[in-house]
Amino acid sequence: MLTLVTGATTKILLKKTERVKDPLAKEIQALLPEMVETMHKEKGIGLAAPQIGKSLRLAVAEADDRVIFLINPDITSYSQEKIVFEEGCLSLPGEFFPIIRSIAITVRYQNEKGLPKKIRATGLLAIIIQHEVDHLDGIIIVNRYRKQQKKNKALKL
Ligand SMILES: [Zn+2]
Repeated sequence: MLTLVTGATTKILLKKTERVKDPLAKEIQALLPEMVETMHKEKGIGLAAPQIGKSLRLAVAEADDRVIFLINPDITSYSQEKIVFEEGCLSLPGEFFPIIRSIAITVRYQNEKGLPKKIRATGLLAIIIQHEVDHLDGIIIVNRYRKQQKKNKALKL
């Protein structure tokens, strides 16, 4: 079982991750089921590699009882329409922040077989993917929330 990395000032959670060079590499293939197991044990619906101490562009997400492996994900389009959702994070136990996200996104990634994929995600899955890709860019929800607040303040002329 993998150990969860927690804390709003923990360095690995604030660092941009490295792309996965070979999704079929033994260590990556071994990591994927372990990440799913850890996500289930912790009752999460998503888990990014930095949260288990690996600074790699890799995450797992679960929606509608289906697990998606996101290797090297990049969000290529965001809907103009936004939604505010009270988000929690396995790395920030007991903390929740209202985060503004796009209601739909397009994401390109490689699946667990290393095959390139492109999907349009909506609803909860879109929120989870945006949260996990944030992790891969070194952004945790407390910092995303602060940025949002600053922006809102700036708009109050
Ligand atoms: Zn998180």
